[in-house]
Amino acid sequence: MNLEHYIGGAHVPSVTGATFTALEPATNKPYLTVAAGGPEDIAAAVAAARTAFTEGPWPKMSGDQRAAVLRRIAAAIESRDDEIAARECRDTGLPITQARGQAHRAAHNFRFFADVITTLGEEVYRVASAQLNYVLRKPVGVAGLITPWNTPFMLETWKLAPALAAGCPVVLKPAEWSPASAGLLPEIMEEAGLPTGVFNLVHGIGEDAGAALVAHPDVPVISFTGETTTGQIIMRNAAENLKALSMELGGKSPLLVFADADLDRALDAAVFGVFSLNGERCTASSRVLVQEEVYDEFVERLAARASRVKVGAPGDPATELGALIHPEHYERVMEYVRIGTEEGARLVAGGERPAHLPEGNFLGATVFADVTPKMRIFQEEIFGPVVCVTPFSTEAEALELANATRYGLAAYLWTNDLRRTHRLAQSIEAGMMWVNSQNVRDLRTPFGGVKASGLGREGGHHSIDVYTEAHIVHLATE
Ligand code: ADP
Repeated sequence: MNLEHYIGGAHVPSVTGATFTALEPATNKPYLTVAAGGPEDIAAAVAAARTAFTEGPWPKMSGDQRAAVLRRIAAAIESRDDEIAARECRDTGLPITQARGQAHRAAHNFRFFADVITTLGEEVYRVASAQLNYVLRKPVGVAGLITPWNTPFMLETWKLAPALAAGCPVVLKPAEWSPASAGLLPEIMEEAGLPTGVFNLVHGIGEDAGAALVAHPDVPVISFTGETTTGQIIMRNAAENLKALSMELGGKSPLLVFADADLDRALDAAVFGVFSLNGERCTASSRVLVQEEVYDEFVERLAARASRVKVGAPGDPATELGALIHPEHYERVMEYVRIGTEEGARLVAGGERPAHLPEGNFLGATVFADVTPKMRIFQEEIFGPVVCVTPFSTEAEALELANATRYGLAAYLWTNDLRRTHRLAQSIEAGMMWVNSQNVRDLRTPFGGVKASGLGREGGHHSIDVYTEAHIVHLATE
C-alpha cells in the first residue's frame, strides 16, 4: 500500500518525491510506503486551507449546515469501522477488540461536536438599556493538527471534529509511526461533502513536516498531542509567530488505593488503567500507590492478574495486550525494565518477551513493586505495559507521592471516605481525577493536564475556544 498527501482535494506525492516506510509492529516488517512531507508540501496544504478559509463557504456556513456535514462524516466512519479497526490494529499493534472501540469513538467525536456547535450559546452583556456587549466567536483560520501514534484515528478526529465545527480549515500531520488509518480520511471527507480544501493531510516526519507546520505564519493555532519534550520544542518554535497552542502532553498518573477501598474494583481499575491500549496511553495509571495495610495483598493480586493478561497477535480477538508500536519504542520500554531492576525495584510480573512470540515488539504485562520516588521508573513516562507499585502509610504521604513527579495529567482515587476525596481533589496536582471509577470520559468536560502534562483544555466548548477568537462588539442603539 502507498499513502500520499491530500492537498486541496487531490492525492499528491511529496514535492521532493521523498517517502518513508512504516513497519508492522507485530513483525517489524515494512508494509507501507508513505509520502514524506517537508516545508513545500506544508506550504501547499496551508495555501489550500487558507483559500478555503478566505474564499470558500465553510467558515460562513451556519452551525446547522456544518453539523450536517459532521454527522455525515460520522456515518462514513461507521460504514468503514471494520476497515478502520483493521488498519489501526495492523499499524499500531493494538488488540483488534480495542482498535474497534477507537473507530466507534472517532465517529462519536463528530456527532458530539455537531451537537456542540448547534447548541452552543454566545455571551451577551447588557451595559445599559440601549447598549449591548456581545461576543462573536470567529473561526481563527487554518488550524494545524499534530497527532501522536497511540490511538491515532481517535485522536485525529478528536481535533478534527471541533476545528471543523468551529469553521476552521485544517492541515493534519499524523504521526509517522502510524499513518495508515489517516489515509482513509480523504474519502470519508469527500463522501460527507466537506468542501474542497477544508481538510488537508500531510504525512511526514515530525522534525520536517510537523516543524514546518508549526513555523508557517498562516497557521494561527496548533493543537498538539504527544510527548512533553516535543511539546516544548513546538512551544519554542511557535513563539516566533505568537501562535495559540493547545497541548496534551505526557503523564505519570497515580492510582491511589486506600485500605478502606473496594479492593476488587480498585484491582480491576489498576489492570485496565495500565495494560489496556498496550499501556501506550497518556492517562495510563502507571504508578499505583497502595496503603500499607493492604499493600502485600494488592501487590500479590496485581501480579497474578498481570501474568494472566493475554499477550498475542494484535489481530486475534482473544488478545488483551498486543505489540508495542515500533522497535525503537520497544527498546526504550525494555530499557526501563532493565533500569527498574538495576534500581532495586522488585519485578513481580512480566519484564520479558513472552516465549511464544519470538518476533515483533511484545512484552508481558509488567509489575514492579517497592518502587521509590527516587527511581527513574517512578519519575519518567514509560508509555508501555509497565506499572510501578509504591506503599504509603498516611494520606499526607500518599499526597506527597502522588505529586512527586513533573507530570499532572490524571489521578485515580480509590477510597470510601468522602472527606478524604474532597481533600485530595483540592490538593492533587492533576487536570483530571477519577474517584472509584475507571477512566470514563464525558466529552463535554475539559480534558488536559497541569505541570509538564499540558497547556489548555480540549472537550466540549473548551475545544471550540481553541479554534475561535473572541471578538467583542459594543452596540449602542441610542
Ligand atoms: P509520540 O511519541 O507520543 O507520538 P511525539 O511527540 O514523538 O509523541 O510525536 C507526536 C507528533 O509530533 C507526531 O506527529 C510527530 O511527527 C510530531 N513531531 C515530532 N517532532 C516534532 C517537531 N519538532 N515539530 C512538530 N511536530 C513534531
